[in-house]
Amino acid sequence: MYQTDFLVIGSGIAGLTFALKAAKQFPDKKVLVVTKAQADETNTKYAQGGIAGVWDADKDSFEKHIEDTLIAGDGLCNRHIVEIVVKEGVERIREIIEWGAQFDKEADGDYKLGKEGGHSEYRILHHKDVTGKEMERALLTELERHKNIEMIKHCFVVDLITQHHLGHLVTKATPNIECYGVYVLNRETNQIEKIIAQTTLLATGGNGQVYRSTTNPFIATGDGVAMVYRAKGRIENMEFIQFHPTALYEPGVRGQSFLITEAVRGDGGILRNKNGEAFMERYDPRKDLAPRDIVARAIDSEMKISGTEHVYLDCRHMDQHKFLEHFPNIYEKCKSIGIDVAKHMIPVAPAAHYSCGGIKTDEWGRTSINHLYAAGECASTGLHGANRLASNSLLEAMVFSHRCFLDACAKLTAEVELSALHKGRGVGSEVVPDWNATGTTQPKEMILITQSLKEVQQIMSDYVGIVRTNVRLQRAIKRIDLLWEETEALYETTTLSPQLCELRNMITVSYLIVKCASFRKESRGLHFNTDYPDKSEMVQNIVL
Ligand SMILES: Cc1cc2nc3c(=O)[nH]c(=O)nc-3n(C[C@H](O)[C@H](O)[C@H](O)COP(=O)(O)OP(=O)(O)OC[C@H]3O[C@@H](n4cnc5c(N)ncnc54)[C@H](O)[C@@H]3O)c2cc1C
Repeated sequence: MYQTDFLVIGSGIAGLTFALKAAKQFPDKKVLVVTKAQADETNTKYAQGGIAGVWDADKDSFEKHIEDTLIAGDGLCNRHIVEIVVKEGVERIREIIEWGAQFDKEADGDYKLGKEGGHSEYRILHHKDVTGKEMERALLTELERHKNIEMIKHCFVVDLITQHHLGHLVTKATPNIECYGVYVLNRETNQIEKIIAQTTLLATGGNGQVYRSTTNPFIATGDGVAMVYRAKGRIENMEFIQFHPTALYEPGVRGQSFLITEAVRGDGGILRNKNGEAFMERYDPRKDLAPRDIVARAIDSEMKISGTEHVYLDCRHMDQHKFLEHFPNIYEKCKSIGIDVAKHMIPVAPAAHYSCGGIKTDEWGRTSINHLYAAGECASTGLHGANRLASNSLLEAMVFSHRCFLDACAKLTAEVELSALHKGRGVGSEVVPDWNATGTTQPKEMILITQSLKEVQQIMSDYVGIVRTNVRLQRAIKRIDLLWEETEALYETTTLSPQLCELRNMITVSYLIVKCASFRKESRGLHFNTDYPDKSEMVQNIVL
């Protein structure tokens, strides 16, 4: 059993930013970071393109960045939140530079600014094509300087602890649901332990793994969203899944697909179909640099017309010296599978990439559950609306981690004063019961879990992908219901494993995506349903 002041779940950009700030501000308090894999195995590490910010104030402006974000969000962004992120973002980028992150510079020392689809100006700071890896490195290095931060790796958070665990009935209508901490599966002892925390931050990242093909690593199973839903917290806009148009197509590869960043098209890469035709001009006047949803749908349509599993990205005409300089990682990856980008076209296909919706938060990152914050990809802040503007997510994670930190500081100070009057939260670790594993036994067949996992991915890819229909959504929900029943039975009777917990979470997340998609009777941003091809005049968030 652990007791901590600050509990941070996740070691990506959102979790680490918060942990560093809390540790600096309160050197006498304990900050505990738990993460289910290696410290750097995060979506953050795989970010390639960069981080958007208004850096060149002569040419760019907050207004332009705000406008670009609102246009991408297709009428569903919260303008107030967009303004907060764009305006506060530059300060947060400066902070991570101070912590040691390096971004590419021109010969004169100015930052090299990139441009991606949907941006009207050059404003993307990057570190070659491995920006996220560099940022994660800087954050982890900075973390080591703080003695009051402890990190437990390979520690799987199973569930949030609320009044439910103290024997009270908790429903969606219960006012003041409280988070007291979490139950975790300690991989060293294989026991479920409890962590009691004053403040908890969920920074558990995305959920791309619910699809067969995704750019997200294996950790991206939507655990935070599923935990909050189980704890009766609010979840929002899960239907808006961004499919990246150009993941490297490698036949037979399951799990994580390698991303070919949009910046390659920004530098002149051209999409071609099986016959070598540059098809994007038939779909959008902005051609290869149209917003991601349009490009992904165009590729999907070309693949369906030709019956192929991919299209091509042609970089043969590009300056190869510059390509190697800007995209060394992509160059090496292609080379490793026999593709010489100077001579061959790169086979690409869309893959699930980013979840715009998630745990509903307010402007301070507060969830609907007291003492529980959410930041980063697992949160739905209102920034992205119906579609995320490229390179806005790393920025959002830092801005909101900072805001969670500010709010937690204020709350902590107020509660210290209150507890001096014996009016604190009133729950000590002793009243939270230990995990009850009676009646469970070791799973006899792992195939029950692995097969169900494949089924989830199959259902979501085939019925709830880039293009949706009412019939497909109905089929998906029926099949997910069945998987849910089978998995709950398994959960009740077997000892917990990360695989079983992840499966359970992925089923919940799939259910939430399908439910939100079914409730949205229109096509908007990333959600395209051929039964409702137009945008509704009623602008609404779907909250479950
Ligand atoms: C290939 C790729 C390229 C991208 N490129 C860009 C880009 O150029 N620019 C941009 O802005 N965005 C980009 N993104 C998106 C961006 O990287 C992510 O949105 C962002 O990094 C998410 O950060 P995070 O801290 O919220 O989550 P993550 O970085 O994913 O971290 C999640 C953490 O939570 C932990 N965790 C999850 N569940 C549990 C659990 N049950 N118990 C314990 N720990 C748990 C994980 O182990 C991990 O440490 C890209 C994403 C991908 C996949």
